[in-house]
Amino acid sequence: MLCQYQAIEGDLKRCTRCGDERIASFPPEQIRRECNRRGLGDYVAMGLAAFGVVKKKRCGCPKRQHDLNEIGAKVGL
Ligand SMILES: [Zn+2]
Repeated sequence: MLCQYQAIEGDLKRCTRCGDERIASFPPEQIRRECNRRGLGDYVAMGLAAFGVVKKKRCGCPKRQHDLNEIGAKVGL
């Protein structure tokens, strides 16, 4: 998921998700940066990892984690 920058003041732009700030003279939608805001799926994965449940190849966990992030983002988590 990419950052969604909003013009704050002058050339200062801030991501509405992770709060990353940068100075850019071009429009905010032209800044392409992978947003590092953690989503619901990331928290679930971290929680499971704490109990020794880790991702295996081809188990579908990365997809589930991604999907949960998307769902979480929709409900504001
Ligand atoms: Zn961001």
